[in-house]
Amino acid sequence: MGFSTDCIHAGQEPEPVTGAVTYPIFQTSTYVQPELGKHKGFEYARTKNPTRSVLEANLAALERGKHAHCFASGMSATDTVFRMLKSGDHVVAGENMYGGSFRLFNKVCEKFGLQFTYVDTACVEKVRAALRPNTKIVFLETPTNPMMTVTDIAACAEVAHKNDSLVVVDNTFCSPWLQQPLELGADIVVHSTTKFLNGHSDSVGGVVITNDDAIAEQIGFLQNAVGAILSPMDSWLILRGVKTLAVRMKQHEENGRAMADYLSRQPKALKVYYPGLPDHPQHELAKRQMRGFGAMISFELGSLANAKKFLDRVRLCSLGESLGGVETLISHPETMTHASVPLDTRTRLGITPGLVRISVGIEDVEDLIADVEQAFAAV
Ligand SMILES: *Cc1c(COP(=O)(O)O)cnc(C)c1O
Repeated sequence: MGFSTDCIHAGQEPEPVTGAVTYPIFQTSTYVQPELGKHKGFEYARTKNPTRSVLEANLAALERGKHAHCFASGMSATDTVFRMLKSGDHVVAGENMYGGSFRLFNKVCEKFGLQFTYVDTACVEKVRAALRPNTKIVFLETPTNPMMTVTDIAACAEVAHKNDSLVVVDNTFCSPWLQQPLELGADIVVHSTTKFLNGHSDSVGGVVITNDDAIAEQIGFLQNAVGAILSPMDSWLILRGVKTLAVRMKQHEENGRAMADYLSRQPKALKVYYPGLPDHPQHELAKRQMRGFGAMISFELGSLANAKKFLDRVRLCSLGESLGGVETLISHPETMTHASVPLDTRTRLGITPGLVRISVGIEDVEDLIADVEQAFAAV
């Protein structure tokens, strides 16, 4: 089936008892067993919940994967993947990624003896050079948050697999509508469903998706053992959100391109980072690897004072963390999402005091541009 059809139907048969077309919220902690040693596939709701199972089947289909496991947040999804490793294992990760992922690796995983090497994964040679015999995971985010650097997933998978390392891709910025990493050779995809997948800024969640039966079994074991599961209510909200993923993404894409085009002609935006612009260093790769360029754009205003003037002045665009919702969100990576990244790393990557990131929503793009334009007047 096509992607839009899968958004609405994959994994979702009408509910068998009543025929309810919208799969219900099974708000229960346990299930009655008809006799000792027999159950209907559900024993306890940490292990399995029907609403969550339906969402998991749906998200697996969208990423062209066989198995999905949903978690209480994007961070708990990533954390669970790293719990497959043991002390002494090594990981190669991107030097620019979501600040929370870096904090998890640097402040939590390292305490348990995992080792990390951070490289610019846009350069496959640097990934290859960082691999060690004990490298178990190559962790990629593409495009990166907030610098929008694009990594060649297929090329990284090839070098990683020669080293028996797994490739994990955080696909949150793209959603499966824009990019399907499993099809490009990745072993595991993680998402913060909080962003484009749910799309309505009313739920926090995460998912781990794979085609590999053995990996899925380990993730399922850890999901039950560690327990950071997604609630039935959130599972239902995300199922509802995903139904419109394809139409939302089309509009995000159209608005993202129009906003990037406007910003590239606005002289007060000193630099614009968007893979859809022809001067983006990985524009050709993005064209090959992604179905579009998305709705995430960063731009440089030159100073904290300028960024503050701009951010204090926007009205329709909301100043806030997060991204991927129907409403346009603007943030200041240096002090918000990437505050946990050390200053020297931030400076080297370009996460400067003047950098602003915009997640372009699906409002009328003329209104968005008018709002941004009047905020530029304050700069
Ligand atoms: C938001 C985000 C996360 C973390 O997800 P939560 O649901 O907030 O825990 C991870 N990766 C990326 C790229 C994100 O944008």
